[in-house]
Amino acid sequence: MKLGKINIEAVQGDITSQADITAIVNAANAELQIGGGVAGAIHTAAGKELSKETEKLAPIRPGEAVITGAYNLPNKYIIHTLGPVYGFNQPEMGFLTDCYQNALNLAEKNNIDSIAFPAISTGAFGYPFEEATDIALSVIKDFSKKANSIKLVRFVLFSQSDYEYYIQKLDELA
Ligand code: ADP
Repeated sequence: MKLGKINIEAVQGDITSQADITAIVNAANAELQIGGGVAGAIHTAAGKELSKETEKLAPIRPGEAVITGAYNLPNKYIIHTLGPVYGFNQPEMGFLTDCYQNALNLAEKNNIDSIAFPAISTGAFGYPFEEATDIALSVIKDFSKKANSIKLVRFVLFSQSDYEYYIQKLDELA
């Protein structure tokens, strides 16, 4: 769908298989190291060189975003952001908003044209999926009015039910 100046998509799949996207977003841990979920998949696919670059940037705080190269991944950049742990990093809503906003701002600063997000904080960090989706989409809605370099935002959902929820919410946004 088109929203303001940008195209927004939701796909079901793996964040490491988005070959046509310039920057993918990592649901990182504070140390910017390999972990489970998205961070594990990204570090495994990118290769060991990635952690040599990320160790210089760590630790990061909840809501913060940093950018690195993508090494063996088909993308040009990885934007690493630390989502809030639900029930711990409060207010969670503020931190999750910061994640999406700071990732988008960093992408604009680097003249990036396309960016793919996983559902930050909704795995190990325990953020309820529906609430997290509302936050992600409200940030994108605001951002769509002022986007400059970014032309495409893609949400990559791991499960079929998560994907279907995004599609429903994007329809409501249209
Ligand atoms: P967090 O620690 O921020 O909660 P996780 O990586 O545990 O991050 O999970 C975030 C979301 O990403 C979850 O909804 C999970 O199902 C999904 N996910 C896990 N692996 C992948 C992957 N390889 N590609 C896309 N999404 C993934």
